Amino acid sequence: MLIDFNCPKCGGSIYENHGLQSRSFWVRLGYWHYIINPGLAFNELVLGQRLPSTMCVCKACELPLHHRAFVPCPGCGALHGLEIQKKFFAFGNYFGLFCPLCQKEIPSLSNFTSSLIKLVTRPLYMIPAKPLKRLWLERRRKLAEAEGIKLLAMNSAEKEQGRFAYLKMGVLWGAIMFFVFWIPLLMGFFAGNLDISFFIMVSMMNLVLWMAGGLAFGGSMMFFLERRGNKELHLDMKELTARMNQDDERDGDIKELP
Ligand SMILES: [Zn+2]
Ligand SMILES: [Zn+2]
Repeated sequence: MLIDFNCPKCGGSIYENHGLQSRSFWVRLGYWHYIINPGLAFNELVLGQRLPSTMCVCKACELPLHHRAFVPCPGCGALHGLEIQKKFFAFGNYFGLFCPLCQKEIPSLSNFTSSLIKLVTRPLYMIPAKPLKRLWLERRRKLAEAEGIKLLAMNSAEKEQGRFAYLKMGVLWGAIMFFVFWIPLLMGFFAGNLDISFFIMVSMMNLVLWMAGGLAFGGSMMFFLERRGNKELHLDMKELTARMNQDDERDGDIKELP
């Protein structure tokens, strides 16, 4: 899909492609993880989550990653930002992702396990699926109509939101993991199978381990989701051409443009 990228938030035109063909190994790994992890079949089949096959991440926006990642629509070329993604692409997408502006389907990835389940159970839902999909699409259209003209503004709107509390989230996760492992230990202690010094030592180790794990988890989330673009890359086509011409003059010869 050829994408005419013009960032709705900053007007920049340089972007990074996120998807299975992404240039970054870590991004590709994330997408493969979505396909391979069988647990994510639950997210897809029950919660109706779908991952768009392609996302354009603006390299110029000075915003956290999820605020500058856009889902391009192959139908109308719209770039759907976080606000639209939250409203239309988050949950309940049992029939795929559909553009709220033009109703065309937006390609999305399917988890391997959920594809397998869908294939096996196909005879069960084949007949009711068609009218259900029509009803579902109708509902989506109504939802989009209710937003009306606001839809377009949603893509470019940017409310400066408070920073997500990553460390708090990490510590909370660590605390949950601590209790998951500590409760059986406590039960063992009360059952009289464990020596008190052993119990205290293992409890402390457990606490330190999960707190460190929680901080590492929160920290890595912060690192990935808060990565900001570079304002230097904020060039629109006019500036780009101007820079190219400048370079040509400096070199003293004319470069061939592709
Ligand atoms: Zn931008
Ligand atoms: Zn569209």
